Amino acid sequence: DAALNVPDKKVDSVCPYCGVGCQLTYNVKDNKILYVEGRDGPANHQRLCVKGRYGFDYAHHPHRLTVPLIRRADAPKRGDFTMDPERVMDVFRPASWEEALALAGGKLKEIRDTYGKKSLAGFGSAKGSNEEAYLFQKLVRTGFGSNNVDHCTRLCHASSVAALLEGIGSGAVSNPVMDVTKAEVVVIIGANPTVNHPVAATWIKNAVKNGTKLILMDPRRSEMARIAHRFLQFKPDTDVALLNAMMHVIVNEGLVDPDFIASRTVGYDELEKNVQSYSPELMAPICGIDADTIRYVARLYATSKASMILWGMGISQHIHGTDNARCLISLTLMTGQIGRAGTGLHPLRGQNNVQGASDAGLIPMMYPDYQRVDNAAAKEKFEKLWGMPLDPQPGLTVVEIMHAIKDGNKEGKIRGMYIMGENPAMSDPDANHAREALAALDHLVVQDIFLTETAYLADVVLPASAFAEKTGTFTNTDRLVQLGRQALDPPGEAKQDLWIIQQMAMQLGLDWNYAHVSDVFDEMRQSMPSIGGITWDRLEREHAVTYPCRTEGDAGQSVVFTDDFPTATGRARFVPADIIPADERPDAQYPMVLITGRQLEHWHTGSMTRRTMVLDAIEPDPVALVHPLDLEEMGGKPGDIVTIESRRGTVSLFARADDSSPRGAVFVPFCYYEAAINMLTNAALDPYGKIPEFKYCAVRMTLGGEV
Ligand code: SF4
Repeated sequence: DAALNVPDKKVDSVCPYCGVGCQLTYNVKDNKILYVEGRDGPANHQRLCVKGRYGFDYAHHPHRLTVPLIRRADAPKRGDFTMDPERVMDVFRPASWEEALALAGGKLKEIRDTYGKKSLAGFGSAKGSNEEAYLFQKLVRTGFGSNNVDHCTRLCHASSVAALLEGIGSGAVSNPVMDVTKAEVVVIIGANPTVNHPVAATWIKNAVKNGTKLILMDPRRSEMARIAHRFLQFKPDTDVALLNAMMHVIVNEGLVDPDFIASRTVGYDELEKNVQSYSPELMAPICGIDADTIRYVARLYATSKASMILWGMGISQHIHGTDNARCLISLTLMTGQIGRAGTGLHPLRGQNNVQGASDAGLIPMMYPDYQRVDNAAAKEKFEKLWGMPLDPQPGLTVVEIMHAIKDGNKEGKIRGMYIMGENPAMSDPDANHAREALAALDHLVVQDIFLTETAYLADVVLPASAFAEKTGTFTNTDRLVQLGRQALDPPGEAKQDLWIIQQMAMQLGLDWNYAHVSDVFDEMRQSMPSIGGITWDRLEREHAVTYPCRTEGDAGQSVVFTDDFPTATGRARFVPADIIPADERPDAQYPMVLITGRQLEHWHTGSMTRRTMVLDAIEPDPVALVHPLDLEEMGGKPGDIVTIESRRGTVSLFARADDSSPRGAVFVPFCYYEAAINMLTNAALDPYGKIPEFKYCAVRMTLGGEV
């Protein structure tokens, strides 16, 4: 019956998945999304990928949490994870909101008052709105009383942000993705946009069609290789060797931009000296790219009228992730390829709001707008705004919090946590350790829409709202602040996240009263100069405004650093980097390299997309992408079950022959709970960004096992 598919309302919103930030329209009937259409947003111009178009029905899934849950006194916190909703009530009992909030917040308060302010921590979410991120970090800073607040930026671009803040004074992109259409040369390194930023990939493909030269650099061959002018499949973990060799060529062939270096930067002499020991001839055997190719791409990048660099987790998720990003920044600065259309630096942000959540202060060392917590003036400013004294010491990061639960001394031990919309039991490295840590907490409160692997370990579970069930702002990878609008009512007794955070704040003794999400946004504007000029009315009217937008009426600036950098001197800083090998190299016992990442159809830990009919039908089973010759050498064939082991854990899953992975490396997506690959990954951290080394650890693979 055609009438069944006629929507009773259309709601303009944004996509809940990746950082591209495609605008879309929800077509709704009887509180159900019928279908989704692309809108003419600045980042997508009506385009949507498979996730944006078909990934909406998780909101209607029968696994949705519809009542608050309290763990039964006799329910163990370990082992036997279940995704079976039938078994939820073996572990939890339903509770009223009143009882659940009193226990959730009351017990956190008791821990704080007994063991001190550093005994609590919170993880917010890069999937939530800016307003939710802002209120969550405010709750931790004022209600818990410490800066122990973080989110999954620590697992994706924290090292890029550390390098960017240090080098150019800003952690966001210099140019929007769409600028690839104005570039003569585009370098993509350590990113697979076709899979992870699909609509952005279409703009890159369009640019190439119109003559832009694409230089793709990656240990794995992605689909972009087909259209690349040059594809450099360098050996895993050798980014610094390759990038320093390119800089060696640029320096020694006189291809630098001396005026830009002299007028806009500091520290060039040290950088120049450092790259001298990285000749292409010396680096070629290390990175696996011949010297002539290194020379060719270095010249191409340096001499084009406009060259732009985009990168992803392949750069950032290493113990030398900050060094990798420092090299990209130096390349850009020495050639003056920044501050103009079609140039610059673009770390492709993963989650739909990882940029905004970081901007809003959901990180342990910075208040909103990257104002340092250990800066006296910033602290004073926020003490005045929030009306109470604040802790001047930076807090712990994601992985540090897990260690502080299990191994913290009397003063530093974390005993209680509030986790909103994150799933560290799946997403953290060395996930067995993370799960043991979460289970060891005296008190864990999880706010989510499903009983995730993390929620399964909670003492109290608070049923929250899905993306389409709330209104808020979300900041995409281009620094575009966009309005997501509510299209559905939450199911059962599930509540909007902003309401839940406020209720939790009250349990901790805070007196908050934000009547509308726009009240929170208005408070954010007071403390965040970068968005000071963006009004709620304007967002309602225009749907999206780019920051920096400092004063009302300001058009917003999509290309930044045109005249200076937001550093104390206005100049950018070169920071040299040397080769640091991966923390865990292959050896006789564990001879292969494990690389983790995402699939086109699934999102992060899979809690949403694996409950989406179309997406899960396309990719229903956990797979390991193995080079066909490696598979053949093991005596296996595609579809066989393989078991992968590291020093930290074991998983079994289906082998898929895939010659885009180099020999000796296996790629596994981290979205499958039945083969949670992060049980194998290494929790060693980059010392600056504190990001774990997801892109490299030693494993062995054998045929057989059980999925
Ligand atoms: Fe959504 Fe990203 Fe796909 Fe756009 S490219 S539809 S934002 S997942």
